[in-house]
Amino acid sequence: MTTAAAGSPRTYQVRTYGCQMNVHDSERISGLLEQAGYVRAAEADEQPDVVVFNTCAVRENADNRLYGNLGHLRPVKDKHPGMQIAVGGCLAQKDRGDIVRKAPWVDVVFGTHNIGSLPVLLERARHNTAAEVEILESLDVFPSTLPTRRESTYAGWVSISVGCNNTCTFCIVPSLRGKEKDRRPGDILSEVRALVDEGVLEVTLLGQNVNSYGVEFGDRYAFGKLLRACGDIEGLERVRFTSPHPKDFTDDVIAAMAETPNVCHSLHMPLQSGSDDVLRTMRRSYRSEKYLGIIEKVRAAMPDAAITTDIIVGFPGETDADFEKTLDVVREARFSSAFTFQYSKRPGTPAATMDGQLPKQVVQERYERLIATVEEITWSENRKLVGETVEVLVAVGEGRKDERTGRLSGRARDGRLVHFDAGSLAGQIRPGDIVHTTVTYAAPHHLNADGEPLSHRRTRAGDAAEAGRAPRTPGVLLGLPTIGAPAAAPAPTGGCAAN
Ligand code: SF4
Repeated sequence: MTTAAAGSPRTYQVRTYGCQMNVHDSERISGLLEQAGYVRAAEADEQPDVVVFNTCAVRENADNRLYGNLGHLRPVKDKHPGMQIAVGGCLAQKDRGDIVRKAPWVDVVFGTHNIGSLPVLLERARHNTAAEVEILESLDVFPSTLPTRRESTYAGWVSISVGCNNTCTFCIVPSLRGKEKDRRPGDILSEVRALVDEGVLEVTLLGQNVNSYGVEFGDRYAFGKLLRACGDIEGLERVRFTSPHPKDFTDDVIAAMAETPNVCHSLHMPLQSGSDDVLRTMRRSYRSEKYLGIIEKVRAAMPDAAITTDIIVGFPGETDADFEKTLDVVREARFSSAFTFQYSKRPGTPAATMDGQLPKQVVQERYERLIATVEEITWSENRKLVGETVEVLVAVGEGRKDERTGRLSGRARDGRLVHFDAGSLAGQIRPGDIVHTTVTYAAPHHLNADGEPLSHRRTRAGDAAEAGRAPRTPGVLLGLPTIGAPAAAPAPTGGCAAN
């Protein structure tokens, strides 16, 4: 029974670090805790009964940050008997028992494969007044079988796979999240339908490598089929996905994107480097020509597609000439936005111990040049939209400036951020509603639309936002596969030797 001494329900807070996978996992952690009787602590509550850290291991100083945060909580816990601290996510999977050795005031450590055990571990730790550390080496159940408390009324994440069979040398995912596990198409579509039934308009299909979806049940075209099947779901207005991998990208996915009206013409495809030599040492098995070839096909099929990417600068061994090749690809690909990263060692990855680690100054200088090039291109791509009408799905708090300028914000179908003036509709437009408006100004990272909106559609997602209702999906367990091959014995997956 999860009640505080006073008889009121115990409160919880989840602190999330890292990528979308973690953000979605935190939605599951919240769903699980609420199912177990906990209630979310108010934002300003400095003494929740349970604090869960959902950690990330990708940054060099991720552990310092975690232990710093845990240190800050210690005096709070001392003053608040019964408070519990749990640490999960990638860093917990990596550091395991070390966490309670370094921070003995932590009550529970759980890994990426056993999120579902958290409520039981908290109870057991309370009962035994001793720390519980439980890390599994592989997934027992697909995490989407867990109840989920969704953070948005209008957009939802849906996992299609977890883990990754690739072996990119800068990435910790394969060792912490394990081999790719694909969820059955019927289960995915059931979850999408459940979200749409709750009023959600936009779904993002989530996997470390969505293009290899189907590898487990032997259908390399399963992802394109899944996109087309999403097209049959009435009420689903926008389908996105992240992340694709150029190595496994097949033409049928481009056709499915172009031919399925609710699939958005936006593609986030990590480039990482434009140099084939660096791609080789990164163990990413496509080459720049293949990457640009995919972009060419996407543009031929969808001239309005917005293509975004991730790029790492300063990978060990990267020469000036390698870096110039990255700039060349950036110029040719004409990205509408790029997430740029300075390479930093991620402990536990092969790249962390490679020769040729570059001095910070060199990396910084390249990084600044990259950003300047990217911004010049994204700005010129954005300027092409001035005068165009865009459909905006209104969001909550996309821009800090909005309050000052009186604008609202949201995303266009192609994923671009749009700040718009609500004009005479001010006060009527809610997060989750749909607005059409005309772009009047372009900046490198956003568009402005300062005229009167052309139309405003009230949606069920907007009603839910107004009423303060968040969608909840119970664990979606069953659901008959409607596309792809039925789940059979998993096909052998030997990692991506070619990478
Ligand atoms: S494709 Fe590479 S970078 Fe992406 S999750 Fe897999 S190993 Fe990591």
